[in-house]
Amino acid sequence: MEDLQIVLMGPPGAGKSTQSRLLSNDYQIKHIQTGKLLRENKDMVTEWGKPKEYIDQGEMVPNPIIDRMVSQEISDSEGFILDGYPRDTSQAAIVEKEASIDGVFYLSVSKDILTERLKYRIVCDECGAIYNTKTRSKGKLEDCHDCGGNLSQRADDSPGSIRKRIEEYQSKTAPVVESYRKQGVLNELEADQEVEAVFNSIQQEIGKRR
Ligand code: AMP
Repeated sequence: MEDLQIVLMGPPGAGKSTQSRLLSNDYQIKHIQTGKLLRENKDMVTEWGKPKEYIDQGEMVPNPIIDRMVSQEISDSEGFILDGYPRDTSQAAIVEKEASIDGVFYLSVSKDILTERLKYRIVCDECGAIYNTKTRSKGKLEDCHDCGGNLSQRADDSPGSIRKRIEEYQSKTAPVVESYRKQGVLNELEADQEVEAVFNSIQQEIGKRR
């Protein structure tokens, strides 16, 4: 397990989870995926209601719920990749305080491609592997090719929720990206390309820093 700490940012559908899974394997660092953490705890009763009520609408889950989970994950691991966090300036302040980030990567993808990817995305219920029913990039799609798990569409990959998630991203997360850009710590990558090409670019950047 390395002590590399990375943040991967980008709008919904940019490929953060796919890239994070590859990075987590390659560098033996933990994949902290806030969407997955929240989906696993979707029925948890809190004073703000259940995470599910927000996730299904495409809205951000209230910060006190997710902040506590992320702080715990960060303190439990030396090396990690943050996927889906920070999503607003208050979450960015927590990352600043609790982690020593080695690199912030931003996956840049055009809006048309994002919507198209989300619309045709199916995900393995077991391991989280991501497939696309339109391109069938991994061949015939019945069960997960990695673990044999069941493949399904996420409840929030519906047209209404996709629209809301992109709006949430624009109003709350884009300012964080802008702030990292101004600080000169943002590595912007063209992520319209194939998975392997994007992954190679991230690896090269990490290589330069170590
Ligand atoms: P994702 O899997 O990253 O697309 O996230 C799915 C959903 O989980 C989001 O639309 C939010 O409802 C919730 N979520 C994930 N990460 C966060 C976060 N950092 N802050 C608040 N809500 C989040």
